[in-house]
Amino acid sequence: MDIGGLETVVANSAYVSARGGTGTWGRDRWQRARLRLPHISQCEALRARLAGAAQTGGHLEEDTSFRWQCVEQPIGKLLFRRFLEGEPRLAAAGALWAELEAYDRCEAEERPAAAAALRKRFLTPGGEQHCAFLGNMAAPTAAPLEELCAMRRALLSHLEAVAWAPYRESPEFGRFLQFKWLEEQPVGAEAFVEFRVLGKGGFGEVLACQRRTTGTMFANKRLNKKRLKKRRGYEAAMVEKRVLARVHSPFIVSLACAFQTKTDLCLVMTLMNGGDLRYHIYNMDEKNPGFEEPRALFYLAQMLLGLEHLHQHRIVYRDLKPENVLLDDAGHVRLSDMGLAVELKEGQSKTRGYAGTPGFMAPELLRDEEYDWAVDYFTLGVTLYEMLAAKGPFRSCGEKVENQEVKRRTLHEPVSYPERFSTMARDLCEGLLAKDPNTRLGFRDGDCAQLKGHPIFSTINWGRLEAGLVPPPFVPDPRRVYAKDLGDVGAFSSVRGVELDAEDAALADAFASGTVAIPWQQELIDSGLFQELNVWGPPGTLPPDLDP
Ligand code: ADP
Ligand code: MG
Ligand code: MG
Repeated sequence: MDIGGLETVVANSAYVSARGGTGTWGRDRWQRARLRLPHISQCEALRARLAGAAQTGGHLEEDTSFRWQCVEQPIGKLLFRRFLEGEPRLAAAGALWAELEAYDRCEAEERPAAAAALRKRFLTPGGEQHCAFLGNMAAPTAAPLEELCAMRRALLSHLEAVAWAPYRESPEFGRFLQFKWLEEQPVGAEAFVEFRVLGKGGFGEVLACQRRTTGTMFANKRLNKKRLKKRRGYEAAMVEKRVLARVHSPFIVSLACAFQTKTDLCLVMTLMNGGDLRYHIYNMDEKNPGFEEPRALFYLAQMLLGLEHLHQHRIVYRDLKPENVLLDDAGHVRLSDMGLAVELKEGQSKTRGYAGTPGFMAPELLRDEEYDWAVDYFTLGVTLYEMLAAKGPFRSCGEKVENQEVKRRTLHEPVSYPERFSTMARDLCEGLLAKDPNTRLGFRDGDCAQLKGHPIFSTINWGRLEAGLVPPPFVPDPRRVYAKDLGDVGAFSSVRGVELDAEDAALADAFASGTVAIPWQQELIDSGLFQELNVWGPPGTLPPDLDP
């Protein structure tokens, strides 16, 4: 074995053992002990800010809404729920909230019984947990999406009206402030232990790393400042950071934090250990590339949910392709690499600009017309085609074609389908690859309901898929590293002739916005640290850190 090979083996084994939580790295006990909640008296400035009563100086505009503080943030929600449980007149509403969530995750055949139970418990006048604020709303039936949403809306506006104000006076809200204080502490490279390089991007390497306090593994995408400057990459880096910080979906890599070092801008993201879809289509079984239809459909459905989420946030992705879709340990996929995304402003419906990957770009984009999210459903169609056929729709197997020719075919030629496509798969592909964006399947009136209703998806339970409860068709081998050997990743040459100035420093500061609330709170919960820190004394007493 050569030295490069040996290095890879050593790097892989440290990384694999950290991943499994068995390595000497494990959780760093000392660092973990440093994670302490502050005394509540240290949180008064924060309290004023979260109440919207103070200038936010430096910070992004503070979101002081009920939704953000009690529903969307995971720790915010847990503490608000704890408050509800302890208030006799609010406890039933809190229980209903939990039951509605459980209902969402039910198998279709469990639903009628679950609906009957909901009705009996919360909608029977005179009953112990009767929720009178729901009026005479019907409990969900077998096809419940709309009723369920209506009930949830009624529940949340009731809670906002009657529970939000008293909650803000409660010790639970004090505890929330303590966690927000912890969340806002500066974060830098020293918070992580680094492992091997996983891949190479345009501006730097992506490394596996582990947070010392929680033991959670991440991918750190480093962007070299000088290289960014030389190749005018700042804008793309900013877009990628902003997009990742705004979206929270199980089908898009999530951003834990953004910070800087002397040399790099760093994005710390969900670690996706299972390799990318391109690798799985072509390299896992070279004699028999491509996926059987059920496996392709599973990935397609998850990508579709990722796209729907982006489009609901007015973000056009533009770079969907198998290479940018990554597998996690369990075999679920997420979209990654948001560097080419564009954010449409409120009221803006179209954008312009040549961006994407040849062979994936939609006709309207190639014609230099204005376009919207419809381009992403075209790339979804190309990706579906490639998963099934193990080649793109606009090139023959192994063919080397000029971009001009790919463009001509995309614009003018009908796509031909191999034998192995089922009638339904072909029909769906044709719907997605429609040359006219107005007739293409996709995002309409705020969601992808029409596309999700295509008969090919009839076996998919979207609620359970969204909740991560559908078992993936393929599970990556936990001992395997689905990344190139270290020697093959390739090194960067050093950047010459670029000096960083004050303007660059300002850009870097804007980039380094620190911790992202939702993923950080979820990480604390998943690692058990939230439960460890969230200690309450006997009922009727206050723990010392909350006692003013
Ligand atoms: P660029 O935008 O410069 O192309 P990418 O985001 O595509 O950079 O990352 C470069 C490579 O790093 C990817 O091809 C992949 O191999 C690896 N990579 C990126 N993100 C992750 C992640 N979240 N988990 C694991 N590997 C990743
Ligand atoms: Mg990339
Ligand atoms: Mg990119």
